[in-house]
Amino acid sequence: MRQLTYVGGSTIEWWDVPEPKLLHEGDALVQPLAVTRCDIDLIIVSGKSGLPGPFALGHETAGRVVEVGSAVKNFAPGDLVIVPFQISCGDCERCRRGHTNACTSVPFRSSYGLKPVCGVEYGGALSDLLRVPFADHMLVRQRGLSRR
Ligand SMILES: [Zn+2]
Ligand SMILES: [Zn+2]
Repeated sequence: MRQLTYVGGSTIEWWDVPEPKLLHEGDALVQPLAVTRCDIDLIIVSGKSGLPGPFALGHETAGRVVEVGSAVKNFAPGDLVIVPFQISCGDCERCRRGHTNACTSVPFRSSYGLKPVCGVEYGGALSDLLRVPFADHMLVRQRGLSRR
């Protein structure tokens, strides 16, 4: 699939990368339909962020569910969703207190489109597909637009 990739300096390129797959039964795959940029994206592509490439760009997105794992109960292919940029489980103590930005089930600052801040490449929204872990918790339904 195509992935807009921050290479380094002020260079971004479309790279051909393997499609993400469901890794856990609670995962979903989402096709981004609308992606906006964050101010930090501008800083990254200007080369001033100091974040080392390469990594997938894009973390502000709404899209369509295309596949769900066997444990996903609340979403099905075709559902229109918003994907929060930070990865969280919804189940740890911090998540249960509402502090999903500090989820202890994933590395600190786990986010889409920002691999250097968390050390994990979760992929970016400027790609054909995103893998969303903890999908029942992570995904936000677009009310009134869902096609189920
Ligand atoms: Zn942002
Ligand atoms: Zn958590």
